Amino acid sequence: MRKLVEKARIQHHLTKEEIVLLLNNADINDDLFKAADDVRREFVGDEVHLRALIEFSNYCRCNCKYCGIRAENKLAERYRLKREEIINYARKAVDFGYKTIVMQSGEDLTFSTEYLTQIIREIKTLNVALTLSIGERSYEEYKILKDAGADRFLLRIETTDKILYEKMHPKSDFENRKKCLYNLKKLGFETGSGCLVGLPEQTLESLADDILFFKELDADMIGIGPFIPHPQTPLKDVPHGSFELALKVMAITRLLLPDINIPATTAMETINPNGRFIALKSGANVVMPNVTGGDYCEKYEIYPNKAAVDYSELTRKLQEAGRNVSQEKGFRKKG
Ligand code: SAH
Repeated sequence: MRKLVEKARIQHHLTKEEIVLLLNNADINDDLFKAADDVRREFVGDEVHLRALIEFSNYCRCNCKYCGIRAENKLAERYRLKREEIINYARKAVDFGYKTIVMQSGEDLTFSTEYLTQIIREIKTLNVALTLSIGERSYEEYKILKDAGADRFLLRIETTDKILYEKMHPKSDFENRKKCLYNLKKLGFETGSGCLVGLPEQTLESLADDILFFKELDADMIGIGPFIPHPQTPLKDVPHGSFELALKVMAITRLLLPDINIPATTAMETINPNGRFIALKSGANVVMPNVTGGDYCEKYEIYPNKAAVDYSELTRKLQEAGRNVSQEKGFRKKG
């Protein structure tokens, strides 16, 4: 097992069978996390990139079985920020020192590409990198958003197991989600993806496929989070995903894609009180604090008790851990 970790650390390559062996073996965890931490330091350094997350609408046309803002959750209190509000949050974030703004929402088609273009153009005058996370759109729409100035796009594949994907996403099309990711790449977006860990019936084999898919896509960012049940969804009685397993999937991703950006996800912090820092010591180099705050943060309830984070406390803790906040925009530097 140690040899496998060593191979991954040096060659950045593993077969599906080797990944499954690692995921299945608990004795190897500490070696695996240490190797991922070493590779992270070697390829992307000790700096942590902070991305300001603006959750600008929780309206959603999709019905993802795990997600609290799914269309059929009639109890979700819906909100939609106006252009001026979004820009104000972006300005505030820039004043705090953030170098990247992430605009995330449900799949809300009220935000036309025209309206989004106006917002993107204004935010881009603030000298920041801009990431969109708004779900599936056509190639033409992605192109308009890219031309407007958006730099990056986050779209998790969620799972590469087609059968599981289709069970989890009624009426959604797995092939289209994949196509969206390749379209984003083709258009020159820094492309982020990722998966959920702990979906019902998800196997270690399919998690290994997820990691190999990230490599095949040559993803620039990968976010991995444990599934957390939301009480107003069909998966309300399913136990949350394992923190350790999510951390292992993340660590192996770091070994195989050594130079990408990997966030310590909010979902990890939500199920483990020190999850964010454990992740930062196991391969992660990014944190994405929510800046929409209070009311909106609560209403963007993809899962309950989403961990919040205070900017100055985070900066202080990062420094204590020997990890300074980066002053750069934090694009992927291909190694
Ligand atoms: N509409 C956008 C943004 C979705 S929210 C899109 O389709 O990309 C961002 C991420 O939250 C999702 O990609 C999903 O992986 C995660 N998420 C949603 N519900 C969750 C839950 N119950 N537990 C853990 N993560 C969840």
